[in-house]
Amino acid sequence: MKSNILLKNKYCCKCLHNNKLKNYFMINNHPYCYNHASLTFNKYIIIIQKFYRAYKCKRYIKIYKKLPADLQYKIKEKINYNHNTYKLYNKLQYIIINKSTILYNNDSITIDQISNLYTLFYKYFNTIHLSYLKYYFMMGKKLQLFNYKILYPELYYFYMDPLYLKIDEESISFDNIYNCSNIINNFIIYYIHRSNIN
Ligand SMILES: [Zn+2]
Repeated sequence: MKSNILLKNKYCCKCLHNNKLKNYFMINNHPYCYNHASLTFNKYIIIIQKFYRAYKCKRYIKIYKKLPADLQYKIKEKINYNHNTYKLYNKLQYIIINKSTILYNNDSITIDQISNLYTLFYKYFNTIHLSYLKYYFMMGKKLQLFNYKILYPELYYFYMDPLYLKIDEESISFDNIYNCSNIINNFIIYYIHRSNIN
């Protein structure tokens, strides 16, 4: 039975009205057009696939049952690890991105908030998606310019960014600017290093 092959140009046995030559499946010696084949046989196909998946799974379980306990433990650990780390990474990324909204949502941010944020980006670099990292990298470069201007007031070149207006001036001290600049610098260097590898 060539039921899985789409053949060319025959009348479908179910298309009573408007019957035209169509591509068809031959099932039980009757030609069915694509629509009628899926309408009539999809429910059986799903059942067959379901049983096949169950069979495949049971086959693995049979092998698994025969293994010694320590190997079973290792397989279980690996499966759980993949599942749990994936969940953990997703959650971490969600938390960090939520925190980073202060960069564009809030009306004012302090230097310490920026430092904390970039500490997180650096620490959880591998859990954050690259498109977010790129954005934080661009923001980091802007913030770094601001820090340099405070640290080295004699700098000649300085352009004003709307972001700088949000930074709370009272939160600025020489120490925390210096600290913030170091933290962002680490992130920027790491980002450049990593994006050269990938
Ligand atoms: Zn038909």
